[in-house]
Amino acid sequence: MGVKVVKFGGSSLADAGQIKKAAAIIKSDLERRYVVPSAPGKRFSEDIKVTDMLYACYGLAERGESFAETFKAIQARYSEIIKGLGIDLSLEEDFEEIANGFRSRYGKDYAASRGEYLNGKIIAAYLGFPFIDAAEVIFFHEDGKLNKEKTNNALRERLCGLDNAVIPGFYGCGADGYVRTFSRGGSDVTGSIVAGAVKASLYENWTDVSGFLVADPRIVENPAVIRTITYTELRELSYMGASVLHEEAIFPVRSAGIPINIRNTNAPEEAGTMIVPESSEEEVSSYTITGIAGKKHFTTINIHKDKMNSEVGFCRDVLDVLANNNISMEHMPSSIDAMTVIIDSEQLESKRDLILTQLNKRVAPDKMEVEDGIALVAVVGRGMFRTRGVAARIFAALAHARINVKMIDQGSSELNVIVGVTEDDFEQAIRCIYDMFVNSVE
Ligand code: ASP
Repeated sequence: MGVKVVKFGGSSLADAGQIKKAAAIIKSDLERRYVVPSAPGKRFSEDIKVTDMLYACYGLAERGESFAETFKAIQARYSEIIKGLGIDLSLEEDFEEIANGFRSRYGKDYAASRGEYLNGKIIAAYLGFPFIDAAEVIFFHEDGKLNKEKTNNALRERLCGLDNAVIPGFYGCGADGYVRTFSRGGSDVTGSIVAGAVKASLYENWTDVSGFLVADPRIVENPAVIRTITYTELRELSYMGASVLHEEAIFPVRSAGIPINIRNTNAPEEAGTMIVPESSEEEVSSYTITGIAGKKHFTTINIHKDKMNSEVGFCRDVLDVLANNNISMEHMPSSIDAMTVIIDSEQLESKRDLILTQLNKRVAPDKMEVEDGIALVAVVGRGMFRTRGVAARIFAALAHARINVKMIDQGSSELNVIVGVTEDDFEQAIRCIYDMFVNSVE
């Protein structure tokens, strides 16, 4: 029998009704042994996540203002859940301890972590599973990075004798003994760490969408769900703006070769998206591509100089100027007498004049042009590898939509094609590529 680690996000545990759904999912499969819950999230769109309430409440405490009212509202969220679940559990002592922690300034990480801590206690009581405080099994180094060895040892030791357990997400114990959290959305990371430590057969990440979508639903109407995606493809798409999973959640399971299944708590019958290692034999999507993502707000600097190509160290000098100003560049297409660097506009903003002056001095170009308002669109898919005609179809789609392509970049891995277009053409570019690859197949 395999071991599954199941993480439930905030919207999946926002109230008693949602927790009941999650519990039914857990109980329906004996392999779902270890549960990692988030704090209660939003019950409706204008609602406030408990984590945000805790940050706000601690802010008041820190400023020496009264935090009683916000604290009561947090207590009320949990009381309502306990009542709705019909369990016999009192969190009174916990709340007293937390209020003291606020007064004693245990830190905002401590404050935020209580969302998961309390929810974990409730869910453990409801399921009848043992509760393990994450501060006893997840450890950080002094620099804030995860102490992998200590964490893995502690998790293995605590879990090896337990058929089931609830381990709250998002936090652990810092090197100074105080509670530390991951960055926002960090329960995904906890789930991944637990799955890696127990060598799970699967890490299920339950959320409120049925997996990763081929394109952003705000741009493409009702896009198809990605059935299988590799870790590398996911990194490419996430970097270009697609988000469902915390970026750091990939690493602990990836190195252990454990797949992640993104599932929908509100539609458990749907298979969701499987995130698999590269070597996996999974068939590629019938669409050839796996997904399309993109970002706006890039700036291009075009640097022209006759015979640039034969000038040894030219590119290095350009990159040096950027590096010295702590600017990272995204792409660098070039020709014989010109090269272009594409940079996130925000990074460049305050340093623009300085960079141009330094470039002038360092490489003495014949001409330099700066263009703002560039968007990048990434078409990602392992199915592109050695498939003829993918690029042709992308550019045919763009040409047909009368979109001018300002830049093209394809890595030698043949995993993605990146095109630069103007921001005005961004949405249309994504739509026409989606139509070309997805709608033409259906
Ligand atoms: N509750 C935390 C947050 O809202 C962590 C999580 O839900 O993953 O960011």
